[in-house]
Amino acid sequence: MLRWDVNRREFLKIAVGAGAALTMPSAGRSAGSSKMIGIQVGAISFVDEGTEKVLDVLQERACVNTLFLAVFTYGRGIAGRQIPGQPLPDHGKQQYDLDFHGGNFATPHPQYYKNTVLKDARAPDHGDLDILAEVLPAAKKRGMKVICWMEDVFRTDLPNIEKLQERDLYGRNAETLCFNNPDYRNFLTGLVEDYARSYDIDGIMWGSERQGALSDSLGATHDEPPIDPGSVTCFCEFCQRKAKERGINVERARQGFLELEKYVRAARSGKRPVDGYYVQFWRLLLRYPELVAWEMLWTDSLRETYAAIYKTVKSAKETVPVGWHIWHNNSFSPIYRAEQDLKELSNYSDFIKVVMYNNCGGERMALYVDNIGSTLYADLSKQSLLDFDYAVMGFQEGSYEQIPHTGLSADYVYRETKRALEVVAGTRTLIWPGIDIDIPTEPNNSKCTPQSVKQAVLAAFRAGAPGVLLSRKYSEMRLADLTGAGDAIRELKLSV
Ligand SMILES: [Zn+2]
Repeated sequence: MLRWDVNRREFLKIAVGAGAALTMPSAGRSAGSSKMIGIQVGAISFVDEGTEKVLDVLQERACVNTLFLAVFTYGRGIAGRQIPGQPLPDHGKQQYDLDFHGGNFATPHPQYYKNTVLKDARAPDHGDLDILAEVLPAAKKRGMKVICWMEDVFRTDLPNIEKLQERDLYGRNAETLCFNNPDYRNFLTGLVEDYARSYDIDGIMWGSERQGALSDSLGATHDEPPIDPGSVTCFCEFCQRKAKERGINVERARQGFLELEKYVRAARSGKRPVDGYYVQFWRLLLRYPELVAWEMLWTDSLRETYAAIYKTVKSAKETVPVGWHIWHNNSFSPIYRAEQDLKELSNYSDFIKVVMYNNCGGERMALYVDNIGSTLYADLSKQSLLDFDYAVMGFQEGSYEQIPHTGLSADYVYRETKRALEVVAGTRTLIWPGIDIDIPTEPNNSKCTPQSVKQAVLAAFRAGAPGVLLSRKYSEMRLADLTGAGDAIRELKLSV
């Protein structure tokens, strides 16, 4: 049995008895099997390569002791094969899954979906295969843990999905779903209750890679292209009602976002305001503080969703750990980082995977600079903006011209791990850095090597991490790079 799990159970036992806030020991334990060595893996890998074979590879090459099995998503990014156009790795079927559909890769049990109109979410990709029923017994036989890994990504062609979708600034349906919509909230809580009660799982991790309308309008993200400022969310009836309850003037908020839309469109077409981009933004913010209030409304709604998932799982099975995947934008946008208050999240988190993908981080950091450097900071040179970002985020990395070709360093992983651990110090929340193994980058940009992966894993443990989570998915990793992670673990004598 893994130490982090024992500690979790001990914590619950003691906490229930004493009602006291305790610190889970997370760092500085003696070597042995105390560290969580996790990997994200989708059903497709087990189908393509065989369950026992995949488990052999993961154990032998990377000393993996915990599977983060992609059980629910409509995204190929964590559940499918390699992204079409990117080179296929040296294992698995040598073919792109152009017909990827996604959904629930286990068996949905209807009694948990009574309070939502989103019903039949079973993934049709692999026939009758229930990936939890397939992998759980094989993993348990080897002493490996299985954590259900779920993502906030949906399709637009699901029955009734339009009833759950967010509404944009102009009231149009968005592809994303609204956390304040009872049908979505109830779907998510039903889904996690289904997993917790129907299967003997070792945890649940959910990830949502989105942000509120203010950040989205400014393009404060590495996403390419950034969202259109007229398509930001959410302005649905549920969000409007919640805003009113908070004393936010909905019409003022809408007016503010319409003004912000004009500002962003002008900025992206190079029309500089007389007083400059930064001053003009502040003028808007001072005139419409509702812009910030709406951003916080969205952020709080995400936090409430975390808390609802946490509470549901704990009521179903108290011993099942629950945690979150925190989006890479946390390393680029100071606004998004401010919203990811790990200390506050620790109130309903047994663990948090903080994304620290260093290789693709260079390319993504440069994209963030391009995006926000076209709006809020359009008066700064790309390098000045990057220097500012490094200073406020606590990084020391290469130049704007270099980083897409070099990636971010292992020192970035060290600093991010250390920062996250310091924020949650004194809480029971474990920090598991997300490590980049072959996450796709543009053809001419930096690629992972066994050495770069090894250095990133070493950096995470040197900073005191109680585990690492190899990401994004086994089906896109080259075997030698996966072995690089194992080399670090073997060098540190962390393997069982
Ligand atoms: Zn909404």
